[in-house]
This record gives sequence, structure tokens and C-alpha cells, in this order.
Amino acid sequence: MKTIHNLKEMQEYIAFQRAEGKTVGLVPTMGALHEGHLSLIHAAGKENDRVVVSIFVNPTQFGANEDFDQYPRDLKTDSELAEKAGADIIFNPEARDMYPADISTSIRMGSIAEGLCGRYRPGHFDGVAIVVNKLFNLVNPHRAYFGQKDAQQVQVIRQMVQDLNMEVEIVSCPIVRESDGLAMSSRNVYLSEDERVSARLLNQALEEGRTFIQKGCRDPGELRQLIQKLLQSDPRLQVQYIEIVHPSTLQPLQLLQKPVMIALAVHIGKTRLIDNIIIEE
Ligand code: AMP
Repeated sequence: MKTIHNLKEMQEYIAFQRAEGKTVGLVPTMGALHEGHLSLIHAAGKENDRVVVSIFVNPTQFGANEDFDQYPRDLKTDSELAEKAGADIIFNPEARDMYPADISTSIRMGSIAEGLCGRYRPGHFDGVAIVVNKLFNLVNPHRAYFGQKDAQQVQVIRQMVQDLNMEVEIVSCPIVRESDGLAMSSRNVYLSEDERVSARLLNQALEEGRTFIQKGCRDPGELRQLIQKLLQSDPRLQVQYIEIVHPSTLQPLQLLQKPVMIALAVHIGKTRLIDNIIIEE
């Protein structure tokens, strides 16, 4: 496996691979790799001749009071994990090259970025969109792999690809969870032992929600209340939002008609966690 830091070198490598008729899969990450990321690398390896894993803690998607400085960074461990999972290239650009001082272009995502996390993280998805757009231009992949864990991110990227006529297939992969149901996240390392125990409630509440729908509940308001009550039963949890939406449009549902996505964001101490489930038709 090879590590590329230089932007031009990345483009030249891909131009060569494409000229040889190879297909390319891209897995964009911010590093601190776990089984969730590795599942994307596995999926990319099954469908493409070459797999590029980008590792870049993207400054433009962090708000002023968010955890950009504390975000875990360990390129050596990440490289070992990515290689074992089947990566051919680690692309690890420098922030000063991705965002030179004279950069002037920005992207403003519209309504798809307004609800859910977008409401509480202004500018976040604009930052995601510009970095993913740049990564697509640098890596020119046939396919790019994203986790359903960040459900709104997947839809924002799909919207951008459609709006800008980009020629890349977006593949969304299922959420990988710990044995007690907690969705894997690079931010789980921030949790204390007690907080880690409390964090199980997120998935438990979502599963209760699923059961409620399966039993025939039609009222999103009732469903939200049920989940809120469950989460509030633990004083360590502070609910930011619980939304019941259509999984593609992310529009709130007036009636619980499948497919349904239940998405939530919760603070546990200083850590913000998100999770979701989709109840299919
Ligand atoms: P991040 O490094 O957090 O930006 O995540 C990189 C990619 O991995 C994103 O597409 C995430 O949605 C995906 N990802 C993160 N956690 C998980 C998980 N538990 N299961 C599946 N995909 C995940």
C-alpha cells in the first residue's frame, strides 16, 4: 500500500490507473478508523480494482466550538488497518494544499442540509460538500462509499452529485454497531466509562421506536414522545433532536408510512452522538 500526500501525485496515479482500464473506489474518512470505516473499505474492494482511502480531518466542516483540535489523529495505526482491509492507497492531503490562502469558491447546500444535524451545525454540510467535491476531482472515482450512520451526509452528497452532474456512483453502506448496539464512531473514545454505558440507550430507543411502528402506531408525535421519554430516563443524556423523516427526502412525516427513518442526536457530557434506523416498506 502506498501513501500519497501530494494532490498532483494523486491525480497522476488515478489517470494512470484509469488509462489501464482499472476501476477506482473512494472511501472518504477523517481517520481514527474503526470497523465502520473498514466495512466501507471492504465494500469498495469487492466492487473496484483499486481502493483509495482518504484521511483528512476537514477543517471546513467543524463549527467554531466543535472538536477539530481534539479530533483523534493516528495515521500509522489507520494505515495498518486500512491496508489489512484492502486499501491500495491512503490519500492524506495537507490542509494548506486543500485550502490554499487564496481559495475563493464555496458550496451552499440548500434544503437537504437544513433539517436534522444541519439545523444545529450551520455550515457543516457546506464544508462536507466542498471537501467531497474536491476529493472527487482529485481521486476521480467510479464509486464512492459512505456510511448510513451519517444519513444526512449521504443525501447531501447524492444531491450535490445530481445537481452538479458528477459522474460518480454513491454507495451507502449499513451502520456497523458494537455488540451492545452503540453505533461505532471515532467520537466514542471521548466517552467516560459511565457515559459509554448510557450511550447504549440511543440504539435501544431507536429499536423501541421500530417495535412501536411494527405494532401499527401511525402518529409521529407519539413515536417521538416515546423515544424522548426513554432517552430522558437517563440524566446523562441531553436530547438535541429526534426526527421522524422520509429516508431519502429527509422531510418530516405527517403519518408513519414506511419507509420511515428515525434519526436522533444526543449529548452525553461533552460528546455529541448521532444515530438512526430505517424501517423499510
Ligand atoms: P468519518 O471518518 O467519521 O468522517 O466517517 C467516514 C465514513 O465512515 C462516513 O461515510 C461515515 O458515515 C462512515 N461511518 C462512520 N461510522 C460508521 C459506522 N458505524 N458504520 C458504517 N459507516 C460508518
